[in-house]
Amino acid sequence: PAPNHGLERQAIIDLSAIANNIRHLRQACAPAQFMAVVKADAYGHGALQVARTAVAAGVQWLGTAHVSEALALRAAGLTVPILAWLHTPDTDFAAAIAQNIDLGCSGWELEHIVSAARTLGRPARIHLKIDTGLGRNGSTLANWPGFVGAAMAYQAEGVLRVVGVFSHLAVADEPARPETDQQLQGFCTAIAILEAAGAQLEVRHIANTAATLSRPDTHFDLVRVGLGVYGLSPFPDRTSAQLGLEPAMTLATQIASCKDVPAGQGISYGLNYVTAEPTTLGLIPLGYADGIPRIATGGPVRVNGVTYPVVGRIAMDQMVIDLGPGARDRLAEASVPGSLLGATAELFGNGSGGGPLVEQWAAAAGTINYELITRISPRVPRRYV
Ligand code: PLP
Repeated sequence: PAPNHGLERQAIIDLSAIANNIRHLRQACAPAQFMAVVKADAYGHGALQVARTAVAAGVQWLGTAHVSEALALRAAGLTVPILAWLHTPDTDFAAAIAQNIDLGCSGWELEHIVSAARTLGRPARIHLKIDTGLGRNGSTLANWPGFVGAAMAYQAEGVLRVVGVFSHLAVADEPARPETDQQLQGFCTAIAILEAAGAQLEVRHIANTAATLSRPDTHFDLVRVGLGVYGLSPFPDRTSAQLGLEPAMTLATQIASCKDVPAGQGISYGLNYVTAEPTTLGLIPLGYADGIPRIATGGPVRVNGVTYPVVGRIAMDQMVIDLGPGARDRLAEASVPGSLLGATAELFGNGSGGGPLVEQWAAAAGTINYELITRISPRVPRRYV
């Protein structure tokens, strides 16, 4: 773990919020099993810490995109079932099979997995993926019967076991759209074909966070939940709080410089923002190299209970907030020690006390909460509470 450098610059990860989110989500989907999706370093929260927390909170499965991510979890001693679903021809399937990692299989992987299993002398566990409409990986429905036939023949030979079938939803975050129903229909057809071919499936799964929360008919045997574990909402029109979730990541630092400037002072590269009156500026030591998008000028920073927008361009390491005229007097009234240097500056967190939310940064950057939390760079130490 990174050493604790006080509040210099930190992504504070609240593991009890993660455990609570999981408990809440598990209630929403019981009796289905629960997979905590911990790809991309657990959406920036730290894969090992989140995986251990999730297992302690009762999740039965962990999910990653890459085999390399799954192998890191095994190397750290996690023994629960893990599924990895995004591969290339150079993926180390043999290592995955040796480490008892389940493999998503969309088509071309089948021969690679079989060859690795033969070399190892150990059967692979695979989940066949059907593309029901997202248009990414997964077999088409047209190719499905042939794909199923090939997989079942290998199963008969003893080189693999088809333990699961899965798909991924395209518009579950927009519950009014009809495509989810169409995807579900395709999924049921694919399951029927697979079962008719004799597969004894342990798990059928299609639900992400949005479907887990809004569509009980997508739960099947297992839900694959990422964003909700981290306490965030996948729905544009519903907040974490409305979903009973608590954002687990707080991005905070300290004001690195504080100075009074006259009217007419240009701020940051390009001098795009010019002070309209004498004011006090606060320097925030986070920038685009830390994962804050350069385009997100206007994003909120909370200092001593007041939220200020970032002004001027966000630079590689730093950005500026305009604390406004009279900032020092307001602080004196609030009995905050005279200097703002070193004051805590929160960019986003769990929203308690009206604090800023990552969704405000996403809006300022024209993106979504998923992208913000996954791009906070390794330069920002994670601290676990
Ligand atoms: N399943 C698959 C195949 C995914 O790629 C992802 C993430 O994108 C998830 C589940 C989890 O999605 P969410 O974070 O929306 O719950």
